[in-house]
Amino acid sequence: MMPEAAEREFDVVVIGAGAVGENVADRVTQGGLTAVLVEAELVGGECSYWACMPSKALLRPGTALHGAQTTPGAKEAVTRTLDAAAVLERRNYFTSNWQDDSQVSWVKDTGIDLVRGHAWLTGPKAVEVAGLDGTQHLLRARHAVVLATGSTPNTPPIEGLQDVQVWGTREATSAGEVPERLTVLGGGVAGVELAQAFARLGSSVTLVARSGLLGNFPEEAAALVAAGLRADGVELRLNTTTDRISENNDGTLTVGLGDGTAVTSEKVLVSTGRHPALEGLGLESVGFEPDGSGHLSLSTDASGLVREAPGDEPWLYAVGDAAGKNLFTHQGKYEARATGDAITARAKGELTGTPDAWTRYAQTANQHAVPSVVFTDPEWPALGAPLRRPGGTGTTHRPWNCSSRWPGPPFTRRTTKGGRRRWLMRTARSSSARHLPVRTWRNCCTRPPLPSWARCRWTGSGMPSPPTPHSARCGSACWRSMACELFELTSQFG
Ligand SMILES: Cc1cc2nc3c(=O)[nH]c(=O)nc-3n(C[C@H](O)[C@H](O)[C@H](O)COP(=O)(O)OP(=O)(O)OC[C@H]3O[C@@H](n4cnc5c(N)ncnc54)[C@H](O)[C@@H]3O)c2cc1C
Repeated sequence: MMPEAAEREFDVVVIGAGAVGENVADRVTQGGLTAVLVEAELVGGECSYWACMPSKALLRPGTALHGAQTTPGAKEAVTRTLDAAAVLERRNYFTSNWQDDSQVSWVKDTGIDLVRGHAWLTGPKAVEVAGLDGTQHLLRARHAVVLATGSTPNTPPIEGLQDVQVWGTREATSAGEVPERLTVLGGGVAGVELAQAFARLGSSVTLVARSGLLGNFPEEAAALVAAGLRADGVELRLNTTTDRISENNDGTLTVGLGDGTAVTSEKVLVSTGRHPALEGLGLESVGFEPDGSGHLSLSTDASGLVREAPGDEPWLYAVGDAAGKNLFTHQGKYEARATGDAITARAKGELTGTPDAWTRYAQTANQHAVPSVVFTDPEWPALGAPLRRPGGTGTTHRPWNCSSRWPGPPFTRRTTKGGRRRWLMRTARSSSARHLPVRTWRNCCTRPPLPSWARCRWTGSGMPSPPTPHSARCGSACWRSMACELFELTSQFG
C-alpha cells in the first residue's frame, strides 16, 4: 500500500537542485520567501558531477603539461607523459567522489528545504514527489513553481544505437579508465573538449562530425581548435554522417560512416547536443504537449515566466538548461538571479507584467552578452550571441581584438600555441555594455581599476568547497582573464 503523502506549503517550489535551481532557491530565500528544492539525484546537478567540473579537471593536467612542453626552459625538465590514474584521481577530487554532502549542507545552512525524489506537476502550483526513500510528498506553492530540471542528451538516429552500450558525456567525464581507442560522435564543445582530454590521456581518438566543428562559433575558432586536436593526434572525420553502430565479438564497437568507411574502438562517446529535460514533469497536466519530435519546450519571458501556463496569476517559471536558452552554468545562474528576484518582487506586489530590459528582473543579457569558452588547448573565449546559431538574432558582430593590462599565465600560454585573443562584440554601442552578466571570481575582480558600477562577487554558492576559487580549482584561468577584459571593455563602452 502506498504510504500517505505528506502535504506541505512553501512560497516557492523549485524542481531540480542543479547549480541553477540552487541559485533560484537561494535568491527567493534571501528575498524573505520560503523555498523547497526537489532533487532526484545529486544536489549540485550536472555541472558539479558530470559536466563542467570533471571535464575541466580532465583537461587541465594535459594543458599544463603541454604548456611546459612548449616553453623553452621548462620543456627540458619534462620527460614523461601524463599519469592517467593520477588525472582520474584528481577528477574524483573535484567531483567530491560524487558525494553531495557539502552542497546539501549549504542548502540547509541557507534555510532552504530539500526533498530528495522525483517531482512532477499535478496541476497549477501543485507538485507531487516520489521520494527516493519511498515516501510521497505533496508540495503546494503559494507563489511559484520553478522548473530547473536541466537538459537531456539528444539521441541521434543511428542504426543499432539502441542495441549497444555507448558513452554519453556522463560516462566520459566519470570514466574509471582510459580506453585504448575512443570514437567521439559530435563536434560541439563537449565533443572537442572530451576528445582532447582523452587524446592527451593516451587514447587514440577519432572524432566524427556531421558538419564542421563548433557550429555556433566563427570558422576561425573551429580551425584553431581543429589544429589543436590534430596536433594531439585526434583524427577528425568532418562532414561525415554516422549511419550505424554494432558490437563486435571482442566487445569493441564499430561505427559505420556515410562515406563507406568504418571506425572501431573500445568506447564510443555520443555527444550530439542536448534538449531541455521536461519529459515526465507532468506538464501535460497543465496543458503542454510535445512537439512533432516528441520533445516538450517552454517559451519563457525575460523573467523566466512561462506565460502560457493556466491560471489568473503568474506561477510557472523555467530556468537554466530547462529553459533551453543558453546551456551554460554561468548563464543559467544569471537567469536564476533574475527569475528569483522577479518571483520575490511579484510576491510582494512590486512587479507586475513583463519587466523592463536590463532591470534586475530581466534576463536581457541572454540576447546580447553571452560569454563562453571552449576549454580546449588553445582555448577559444567568445562574448555575444552565437554567430551561426539557427534562429539566432542575426545581430551584426565584429571581432574585437583586445590587449590586456594584466598579462599573466593564460596570455603567455596562448601566445605560445598561436592562440589569439579576440572578442565578438555587438557592433552597436549600447547601454547593454553596462549590464554584462559578469559576477566572477573574487581574485580577479578585486584588482583595481574597476568601474565603480561593477557589482562583482564570487558566485561560488553552488560550488562544493568554498572558499577556494573555482577558477583555480578547475585551472580555468581563462575565466579570470575574460572577466577582467569584460570589465576593461565595458568601462570603455559604457
Ligand atoms: C560535458 C559537459 C561540459 C560542460 N562544461 C561546461 C562548462 O565548462 N561551463 C559551463 O558554463 N557549462 C558547461 N556545461 C553546461 C552545464 O553543465 C549546464 O548548463 C548546467 O549544468 C545546467 O545547470 P541546470 O541547473 O540548469 O541543470 P542541471 O545541472 O542538469 O540540474 C538539473 C537537476 O534537476 C534534477 N531533476 C531533473 N528532473 C527532475 C525531477 N523531475 N525531479 C527532481 N529533480 C529533477 C536533476 O537530477 C539535476 O540534478 C557542460 C555540459 C556538459 C554536458
